[in-house]
Amino acid sequence: MIGIFGGTFDPVHYGHLRSAIEVADVLNLRQVKLIPCSNPAHRTPPVAGGNMRLEMLTMAVQGQANLNVDDREISRPGISYMVDTLKSLKQEYPHEALLLMLGSDSFKYLESWHCWQQLFDFAHVAVITRPGFEIGRLNTFLAERLVHNNTELTKHPAGKLCFQPVTQLSISATAIRQMLSAGKSARFLLPDTVLDYIKQKALYL
Ligand code: ATP
Repeated sequence: MIGIFGGTFDPVHYGHLRSAIEVADVLNLRQVKLIPCSNPAHRTPPVAGGNMRLEMLTMAVQGQANLNVDDREISRPGISYMVDTLKSLKQEYPHEALLLMLGSDSFKYLESWHCWQQLFDFAHVAVITRPGFEIGRLNTFLAERLVHNNTELTKHPAGKLCFQPVTQLSISATAIRQMLSAGKSARFLLPDTVLDYIKQKALYL
């Protein structure tokens, strides 16, 4: 099974990286693809350009063989819809299950995503939660797909929903950008290599 972790990654930080590794370990994922979006559908455009965000991600995953970076959304013109991304990944990996990873903040808005129900035709969905996280009321579509046992995921090629608790790191890219623009240190919230790159390119000032 391949994990798919999309986002703006503006910049990538340890909240992303730690979650990706923990979900990969628990669900025995062969790899996790970190996929930065080009033009997000639901938010203001990223501050750093697509190529810079790709470069930062590539530095961040250096030496971590099961995490890799995928440029298909940056390379694709127009708004980055996850359903298009999953469709193209499914064409590339027809015989392997895909698992879309989402933070619980993103999951809250899943029903506003373009063709959101179709996501389940191509992938399972894993919501990254904090330990003890309460699953709120799910609509019928989602409730029917919920599994509590991870082995259920391996029995189906796609279409299931699960919740995966990970070590909670209260780090956000917004807070990092604000620290940097206020001239404060963001060290130990993201890899040093990424921070050096940000300084060198005078990003987020
Ligand atoms: P921003 O502050 O700019 O909104 P962000 O830090 O939330 O950025 P994104 O690139 O928007 O990062 O997030 C990509 C994915 O990673 C989303 O599914 C989001 O829920 C998840 N995520 C972000 N930060 C964390 C964190 N600290 N722990 C777990 N998941 C996270």
